[in-house]
Amino acid sequence: MRDEIDSREVEQAKDLLSMAGAMIILTGAGISADSGLATFRGADGLWRNYRAQELATPEAFAEDPRLVWEWYGIRREAAASCEPNMAHLALARLASERDGVTIVTQNVDGLHTRAAEMVALERSTAEAARMERPEVDGTARLPLELHGCLFRVRCTQCGERYGHREPINADSVATLPACRSCASLLRPDIVWFGESLGAAIEIAFGRAQEADLCLVVGTSAVVQPAASIAMVVRQAGGKIVEVNPEPTPLTSVAAVSLRGGAAELVPSLVS
Ligand code: NAD
Ligand code: ZN
Repeated sequence: MRDEIDSREVEQAKDLLSMAGAMIILTGAGISADSGLATFRGADGLWRNYRAQELATPEAFAEDPRLVWEWYGIRREAAASCEPNMAHLALARLASERDGVTIVTQNVDGLHTRAAEMVALERSTAEAARMERPEVDGTARLPLELHGCLFRVRCTQCGERYGHREPINADSVATLPACRSCASLLRPDIVWFGESLGAAIEIAFGRAQEADLCLVVGTSAVVQPAASIAMVVRQAGGKIVEVNPEPTPLTSVAAVSLRGGAAELVPSLVS
């Protein structure tokens, strides 16, 4: 009986997705759990082992940049050792194939971006094979990373931002990464507690106003203002479809809420 209900709900969610025009896909740490990355609030969550709330602040960085970089170095290594899973890839394919699909993520692991790059490469290879010209076709539709990315840095002096994947040497302040332009200390390009979310959240809210549907995957929907993106879609007349093994504050307002893991459910919704 339970399976029957589940499969009916999956069909209902698939119909909503296929009928939607513009769509926002809001993701959180749960989508990367199936790639082996710990969520924050789960039993093995990062917040259990580190006092993240005390490390992920501008004050902590001003006081002890070495310690903060050490923690981000560990998180970088964890993220770099993971691969995008079937959910990241299915969503990247959807975004590259359909107009009006925006992926908005709270994650800083860069896995949506890597999935977009893999899909763009897949497509350009297929295109190149068809057209016999080996050009990259630029179909990567990059996600909006609301909280920044572990693999980007920002200069504490000149403000320059750029990609940075090299291992972090946090032996001392002198070995921490330095700006390629002005040699000042770099910081992770992450939105820390007490900092504002910048342009990405404005773009996300703008798209939410226009969206017919918000697919919410793997977020506890308690961190604001990200969680309110789904509510903006609903208030503007759109529907919410949720994928999460546990109920969340969005469950009661979702048109369909599917209990299960992202890598298992998401590919079947968007295929
Ligand atoms: P969260 O830890 O609060 O919630 C994770 C959610 O994922 C939970 O509701 C859980 O039930 C669900 N979940 C667990 N396994 C799942 C699976 N296999 N498939 C689908 N869902 C699953 O995470 P959040 O809501 O993203 O909250 C936020 C904060 O944590 C954000 O600020 C984010 O930047 C940060 N964060 C990011 C990462 C990352 O980049 N991967 C990891 C941990 C935390
Ligand atoms: Zn600089």
